[in-house]
Amino acid sequence: MKVGVLALQGDVSEHVSALASAMRSLGISGSVVEVRRQPQLEGLSALLMPGGESTTMAKQMLRFGLTEPIAEFAKSGNPVMGTCAGAILLSSKIVDRKGPEEVRPLGLIDISVRRNAFGRQVDSFEKPLTVKGLDSDFPGIFIRAPRIEKIGKHVESLATLNEEHVMVRENNVMALTFHPELAGDDRVHSMFLSMIKP
Ligand code: GLN
Repeated sequence: MKVGVLALQGDVSEHVSALASAMRSLGISGSVVEVRRQPQLEGLSALLMPGGESTTMAKQMLRFGLTEPIAEFAKSGNPVMGTCAGAILLSSKIVDRKGPEEVRPLGLIDISVRRNAFGRQVDSFEKPLTVKGLDSDFPGIFIRAPRIEKIGKHVESLATLNEEHVMVRENNVMALTFHPELAGDDRVHSMFLSMIKP
């Protein structure tokens, strides 16, 4: 099994390590590859879009011709997970975005997000989360997190914080506003790998 992490910008290496650890936990033999160009999508079973800066990532995706291929990859049913900036990119609407076309989200999961909704970098915080399918709390690390303001009727909520959705899934696409790769706990990455059909 080969799983990719979009590696244009953001906290790529942390996700690579968390996925490798999740593979060991699940007893899966496979590899994690960094995706910078379109050919690297070939043969992947799943793709992870990391946190970072969504505007920069969206521009880089366009520049390197990855926007459409990533959308196609997800539309073919392959599991895709986005954390924080990655979730913003997967969304169907960025409500605070009035800027240029080039930062339009991919529209792969029916959620509306508001960027930097909890304030600045110094307002980052950590809170334990109850995640559907996990038997104990998961450390939720929020760094200049977006807020999921609205979810479509086919979107399942997997975790909330103060009654707001922070982890959601629609079919093969999962979006999180926190950073599981920094939690020292590979269970969310394992959940993601479990979405891969044998
Ligand atoms: N604030 C960032 C953005 O708008 C996301 C922050 C993150 O990924 N930790 O893209």
